[in-house]
Amino acid sequence: MRPPHSPQPAEPAHPCANAELDTSAAPVPEPFYCRRCRRALNVRLDNQGVIVEYLHAAGQRGQPSDHRPEPAPITEIPDPIIDCDFCSAPDAAWIYRCADRVTDVRRVTAQVVAVGDYQTRHHAARARRTDTEHAFTQAWGEGWSACARCADFIEARDLYGLIGRVVETLPAKLTRGKHLMHTRGQLHERYSDVFDTLVPGRGRITPGHPLGLWNHPTGEAP
Ligand SMILES: [Zn+2]
Ligand SMILES: [Zn+2]
Repeated sequence: MRPPHSPQPAEPAHPCANAELDTSAAPVPEPFYCRRCRRALNVRLDNQGVIVEYLHAAGQRGQPSDHRPEPAPITEIPDPIIDCDFCSAPDAAWIYRCADRVTDVRRVTAQVVAVGDYQTRHHAARARRTDTEHAFTQAWGEGWSACARCADFIEARDLYGLIGRVVETLPAKLTRGKHLMHTRGQLHERYSDVFDTLVPGRGRITPGHPLGLWNHPTGEAP
């Protein structure tokens, strides 16, 4: 069986390319959680779409963890701790669904510069060709949990308001000095995709319903 978060291997990696969603298919696919800390995990895939690594989602928001992930589907975790996927608040109230977004991370294996360029410009020489290889694909999943305050920004489609709120909650190492612009850029890219591909409606997270109780706009199934 395919893991719930893995994209179809043949699908293009660009998030806009698979923005068409079957809205009747909500709720979200079942995410992986950690058996040990009961918190969300993200997955990394190889270029065949096979999971090669699990990571604590909170770790990817700059909060270190003291153990290795022990993955299990969320419904197998008694009393999962559902953090806000945006600001990390431990009391997510809503779950949103958007296109399954992935980030392809490539590593540079060689840079080729023209000899003439190099002789005259040295380190300023333009790379004529940069060879890269696929390092891993970071899957962010289709479901995004949000605390009540982050959800207010999402409902208002206030991208910059949301980024501003999240930046305030991040550890200093991600927002100090020149890191701030880089971090804001990453959040902008990630959240733009979320806003662009949001499926109508949202699920209310309640005890016993970690994937949310979904409302649907009038006229939409089911
Ligand atoms: Zn854990
Ligand atoms: Zn939040």
